[in-house]
Amino acid sequence: MFRFCSLFSGSNGNSLFVTDGETRLLVDAGVSGIRIQNALASIGENPASIDAIFVTHEHSDHSQSVGILSRRYNIPVYATKGTWRGMRSFIGNVNELNVMYIDPEKSILTGHIEVHPFRIPHDATEPVGYSFRCENKKLTIATDIGHMNSELLENIRNSDLLMLESNHDLEMLDNGPYPYVLKRRIKSDYGHLCNSIAGETIAQLALEGVKKFIIGHLSGENNNPAVAYRTVGACIESIGFRLGEDIELHVAERGITSKVFYI
Ligand SMILES: [Zn+2]
Ligand SMILES: [Zn+2]
Repeated sequence: MFRFCSLFSGSNGNSLFVTDGETRLLVDAGVSGIRIQNALASIGENPASIDAIFVTHEHSDHSQSVGILSRRYNIPVYATKGTWRGMRSFIGNVNELNVMYIDPEKSILTGHIEVHPFRIPHDATEPVGYSFRCENKKLTIATDIGHMNSELLENIRNSDLLMLESNHDLEMLDNGPYPYVLKRRIKSDYGHLCNSIAGETIAQLALEGVKKFIIGHLSGENNNPAVAYRTVGACIESIGFRLGEDIELHVAERGITSKVFYI
């Protein structure tokens, strides 16, 4: 059985925790090391027992304290060559023995957990999402997605729990304070996924049998948990599913450690 917790999720910092009870993994470390340590302690986990950190991409909201945690607890860090190239200069020194390279679409085994990195369309050097498999269960994390495509869809389908980006409400973004260039970047094919596309994707996957979803990586300026839940929830209900009965939908709130999910 997997236990999963969104320690932090949002455009201001991300760190997710995955364990099968034996192997303990972090996906990203994009807030301070102290905040991650405290969040882990709040769910009864010891940061010293983390076996590996898997990094999705070099943006600081995902990589800020990767080096700090690796040095403090001697933790191996797994990332693509492009992500290593992108983050090396600002995460500080990492012991060469803890520098681990992964390739998109090539699974690796850590303990009994099979980790599968897959490409995501985002404006970073070589960004990936991850799915984790253990005992026939599949847990998938896909945020920082400019657009949906068939390769990505293939990787996120058939999950027992999917955490998907639902970054912004298009209207809030259009009417909000961000400068034009930033709005254009967020909306681009290599930016971030809006609530309505997240909703359409989740509805499609629900039709295929996926039952548990967490939406995350919410923007602070251009979204809020109620709007995201309402938009994605409406997509799910529009095809006849009952929220909370047929389909579980949760929002990972910015800066708040989520409950622990068991799958
Ligand atoms: Zn991000
Ligand atoms: Zn990013």
